[in-house]
Amino acid sequence: MRYEGVIYRPPSEFDSLVIQATIGCPHNRCSFCNMYSDRKFKIRPVADIINDLDMAQLRFGENVEKIFFSDGNTILMKTKNLLTLLRHCYKLFPNLKRVTMYGSAQYINLKTLEEFLKLKKAGLSRIHCGMESGDDNVLKLMNKGFTQDEMLKAATLIKKSNIELSLYYIVGLGGYDLSNQHAVNSGKLISKINPDFIRLRTLIPFKNTPLYKLYTKNKFRLLNPHDALKETKLFVESLDNIDSYFLSDHTSNYCNVNGKFPEDKDKILKELDNKLSLDISSFRSPNAGTL
Ligand code: SF4
Repeated sequence: MRYEGVIYRPPSEFDSLVIQATIGCPHNRCSFCNMYSDRKFKIRPVADIINDLDMAQLRFGENVEKIFFSDGNTILMKTKNLLTLLRHCYKLFPNLKRVTMYGSAQYINLKTLEEFLKLKKAGLSRIHCGMESGDDNVLKLMNKGFTQDEMLKAATLIKKSNIELSLYYIVGLGGYDLSNQHAVNSGKLISKINPDFIRLRTLIPFKNTPLYKLYTKNKFRLLNPHDALKETKLFVESLDNIDSYFLSDHTSNYCNVNGKFPEDKDKILKELDNKLSLDISSFRSPNAGTL
């Protein structure tokens, strides 16, 4: 397999074979993100990706049970090419159970339900989608490239096609000014979507990003650990009528709360209260890990 640049994958894909189908991110403009700022977006030729899959088959063969196609927004690839790749994956790896990729709302919305139904049938199992916020002001501030309504439309397409939807929420993305509306509107939007997974991340400002500049000029205030936990509580309280796994599977978070909705909602809220009873000095510094 051949890789270009740093490879990112969700922690939940730790044991997946990672194949780079696209390089970089077609959006590459989110205010908080520097993951792909060192590379120009391109879609690799299908023949090259197939070649990488063939190499992986020689090396790992029957051991491959999961494949994650990186980099950002592989869902943007033409549907016929994605279908070719998916079919090739399942032909090569007899024990393959799951194929996943990243997809943001604006790129999901370029495809029709019929296309997603075909992708599901060919074995696309899960989309990792960086919703980050369900509040239009936060989405605009972070230059996400989609609105709350567009996120709902994209999520509906994925849900209707029975592809699993893994949605990400970033605690603190609205800073102090937008914290409450970020939490409440994100909770309301997710309650309409009912994703399979809700995954928490906590904002850490990365160097060389527009957000980092705002932060260093004191135009964006990072939540302290207690306020980040309070925002998380408000977010959890706003989640209603969903049947989703709630996972705090990232080192950026101040709490490690996990569970299944609706049954674990009270347990999660209690765990957040327990965390809130700890002295603020027992948490990492809000800008620890700034890269
Ligand atoms: S869409 Fe994702 S990968 Fe692309 S810039 Fe935004 S956060 Fe980064």
